[in-house]
Amino acid sequence: MITIAVIGGGAAGMMAALEAASRGAAVSVFERQNRVGRKLSVTGNGRCNLTNMNAGPHSYHGEQAGFAAPALTELGPKETLARFRSLGLLTVSEKDGRVYPLSDTAGSVVDVLRYAMASAGIRLMSSCEVSGILRTKSGYKVLWQEDSLDFDRVIVACGGIAGEHFGGTKLGYRLLEGLGHRCTSLRCSLVQLRCDHPGCRSLKGIRADAAVSVFRSGTLTAASFGEVQFTDYGLSGPAIFEISREALNGPETVVSLDLIRSVSEEELTGMLLHRAEITPQLTLGDVFLGTVQNRIGRVLAASAGLKISEPLRGLNAEQARRLAGLAKHFEFPVTGDMGTANAQVTVGGIRTEQFDAGTMESRLCPGLFACGEVLDVDGDCGGYNLQWAWSSGYLAGKNAAEV
Ligand SMILES: Cc1cc2nc3c(=O)[nH]c(=O)nc-3n(C[C@H](O)[C@H](O)[C@H](O)COP(=O)(O)OP(=O)(O)OC[C@H]3O[C@@H](n4cnc5c(N)ncnc54)[C@H](O)[C@@H]3O)c2cc1C
Repeated sequence: MITIAVIGGGAAGMMAALEAASRGAAVSVFERQNRVGRKLSVTGNGRCNLTNMNAGPHSYHGEQAGFAAPALTELGPKETLARFRSLGLLTVSEKDGRVYPLSDTAGSVVDVLRYAMASAGIRLMSSCEVSGILRTKSGYKVLWQEDSLDFDRVIVACGGIAGEHFGGTKLGYRLLEGLGHRCTSLRCSLVQLRCDHPGCRSLKGIRADAAVSVFRSGTLTAASFGEVQFTDYGLSGPAIFEISREALNGPETVVSLDLIRSVSEEELTGMLLHRAEITPQLTLGDVFLGTVQNRIGRVLAASAGLKISEPLRGLNAEQARRLAGLAKHFEFPVTGDMGTANAQVTVGGIRTEQFDAGTMESRLCPGLFACGEVLDVDGDCGGYNLQWAWSSGYLAGKNAAEV
């Protein structure tokens, strides 16, 4: 019987372990935390957006474009849901193809996986932090604390640096580097943005619907739309997470918000002049009345250099144009991100050219496999990263168990 060590009991590791065990291998899962699936249990704000029906190679990034394609072909979203169904998990598909457990609880996804592992006779070594993997004549020696065990094959599924409080770590990169693999530079994605804008603090706590554009040195590089949250450090919310990968991809980046996307700049200019006409007794701070949240309106008016306490009746056409321009292009220079503790995914990882995309086996070390976020593959926002964990974990487990 082939013996397999899976290092990391997260999404990818559990999928790999189940697949290998179903093919007759004797599987041991090493998990440094006291339980498996800790990060999985907080995904999707505790709801776990476990896949996206639109997932395809185009949803993934990394130095080697298309590395994710074979894994997604073997186990795409449909096949993934069928597997979860066979484990007893019911799911619902929401807007944009996002899929959640019917229970609306990430814990259900963790539970079906961990009970399936127990039923499959998988040995779980929790609170075991693997510190090294050594090549032996017939396979690999896995080292932890003062102990070690020999295995025929090893699957490294240690995840990345994102979600630090739930298991995010550099250990997986170190283990694979110890065996000759190379790591790209690492940074965060799907994360809140720090921005240099005096308005952020005044707008703290406000949510707005906006079209979001990312400009690098004046060139449009990414766009999204939806909810944006203003915070004391900068910008957050789903629409910001979506463009965060690109917004952090170089210097001199500006995020521009169109806060009134249903009307053109010209129409808005007319509306503001009309507002002055019908309620001249109000102040310039009220000029956006009926269009955006009052606090946003006052910050826009102040940012346009207007004295917000002055009467609205004094508004002229040039000022109205300036205000409309600001509301349609409210710009926030990006200065950084909120770090690995707050990020959902890692950009970069172990170089994929050193792995076979069709099997997840290392080209340097036969019998060594890797899957999930530890590899240089990251997905868009919306269930794509867990889909990569399931797809790559499945491939690694299947091929590691092959006789
Ligand atoms: C807050 C948050 C919300 C998210 N929400 C979503 C979402 O809704 N949808 C989505 O698609 N993606 C989401 N993601 C991203 C997704 O969770 C990850 O991409 C995915 O979990 C990666 O799976 P993995 O198995 O590669 O790594 P992980 O799930 O991180 O698992 C790796 C495991 O390995 C263990 N480990 C590491 N090193 C060692 C070692 N040396 N020895 C033993 N054990 C080790 C870790 O403790 C960890 O349990 C979210 C991430 C975060 C942080």
